[in-house]
Amino acid sequence: MKLYIFGTCSGTEPYPGRHHVGFAVEHCNHLYWFDAGECCSYTAHLMGADLMRIKKIVISHTHMDHIGGLGNLLWTIRKLDGMHHTLVNRDIGLYIPDIRAWKGVETMLRYTEGGFRCDFTISPHEYTNGVLFDDDGLRVTALHNHHLPHEDGAPWRSFGFLIEDGKRRVVYSGDTGGVDDFAPLMPGCDLLLMETGHHHPPEVARELLARNIFPGILAFIHHGRDILDRYDAQVSALNEICPGRWKILNDAETLEV
Ligand SMILES: [Zn+2]
Repeated sequence: MKLYIFGTCSGTEPYPGRHHVGFAVEHCNHLYWFDAGECCSYTAHLMGADLMRIKKIVISHTHMDHIGGLGNLLWTIRKLDGMHHTLVNRDIGLYIPDIRAWKGVETMLRYTEGGFRCDFTISPHEYTNGVLFDDDGLRVTALHNHHLPHEDGAPWRSFGFLIEDGKRRVVYSGDTGGVDDFAPLMPGCDLLLMETGHHHPPEVARELLARNIFPGILAFIHHGRDILDRYDAQVSALNEICPGRWKILNDAETLEV
């Protein structure tokens, strides 16, 4: 499974060389997008991820560091498609846990230019726990987490994911309340994309080892202060705790698992 990493920063103040979170999984020549932070389409285009291959967009929750680039992503797809009309009769599925945020983005796009008429359609889905889709063997399963406050009976609005292609299992924590939230997704996990905006990398590594659910590779994304301000200390700690089994992700890199 190949991943394109577009943005690796959490919702901090603007930070040199890092933008808000977003990545894509390549499968059967399509791109499946996860979160759409600022600049994701810009970074994707410059690193050679062909936006005409996008099939689905999955948003973990509707905080700005995860959807700030969504309008611009769709605008850029429409712009690029306008040159060759590759996307005639194609549909882009949008999976978002709060449809109200999409309604706002959709309204904004409609008043950008040309009524935002496109060759392609966009199909929004407000999702909850369970399998979101299974496309040619790529299955994505959502599991709610406790990043956002939640009242009994109300819809869950924040999720982590298991992404499987039959060979590899990737878990994306989303923004998470902690390891308890995504532990049910971890058995057999080859790659964990773990957010560090609300958690300390060495503590996460120790907990995963202690609970015997350490993934093949522990990759940190959605960086907070530990990575941004105390990078060398995190590297030293991780090299002691889990040498050779961790990675701190950067914008505009690809990853094979
Ligand atoms: Zn976030």
